[in-house]
Amino acid sequence: MINRRQFIKLCACSVTVIGISQIWGLSGGSAADREIPILLYHRVGYTSGHLSVSPERFANDLQLLRGKGYKAITLEQFQSFLLNKNTDLPEKPILITFDDGYLDNYEYAYPILKRYGMVASFFIITSMLWDKGRLSPEHIREMASGGMSFGSHTVSHRQLGKLTSDEISEELNSSRATLESILGSSVQTIAYPRGSYSLETIKEAKGSGYLAGFTTNQGTCSRRSTLFELNRIPVFDYDRNILEVIARYT
Ligand SMILES: [Zn+2]
Repeated sequence: MINRRQFIKLCACSVTVIGISQIWGLSGGSAADREIPILLYHRVGYTSGHLSVSPERFANDLQLLRGKGYKAITLEQFQSFLLNKNTDLPEKPILITFDDGYLDNYEYAYPILKRYGMVASFFIITSMLWDKGRLSPEHIREMASGGMSFGSHTVSHRQLGKLTSDEISEELNSSRATLESILGSSVQTIAYPRGSYSLETIKEAKGSGYLAGFTTNQGTCSRRSTLFELNRIPVFDYDRNILEVIARYT
């Protein structure tokens, strides 16, 4: 059982703090300054725990977001935005992400996302693809054909910041190859398990062709963000109003 303050502490402990001056998109213009909130969910269902929200609560989140004018964008749209491409983003874009690939993402979150005309991006632990209670390749293919996006959450969910470069390379390359063979399209993003990463992690991710890495560091993202240290906004079961959660960071 963790609360928001403890979650922040946990992240601060597990993340190797690094100062990388890899600043992107310094060209002027409103698009470069645009801040995009990236929500981080884990489970949608009737399981207990602070990382699980009920389907009713998730539907309410999406209703509030839609009412406020937010439009969910795909991972591919977000990637194009980061790369400074001429992406036609909606006026109030939001990226909705899910870590860990729980089956409830398919059973509950996916139908609710469709009901509200929203999309989300799911980061998958590939060693768990055939486990009970997790998304299978068939679920992933069906969700992808429904407009959902997928990224790597490594093979084994080990903390990348604590691994050797060979181990990191294996986690990154093998998980991506598995996902690409399932999807038949390229996978270019990684969400670091438990928010753990290091300079070595970023070097290996860049070297193996990833485009961006999502952390559990809290905040919004813009073209000024460091590509392999993207912030997200964690969502907890006790958050009563998703708009108030976002407002803390914007
Ligand atoms: Zn995870």
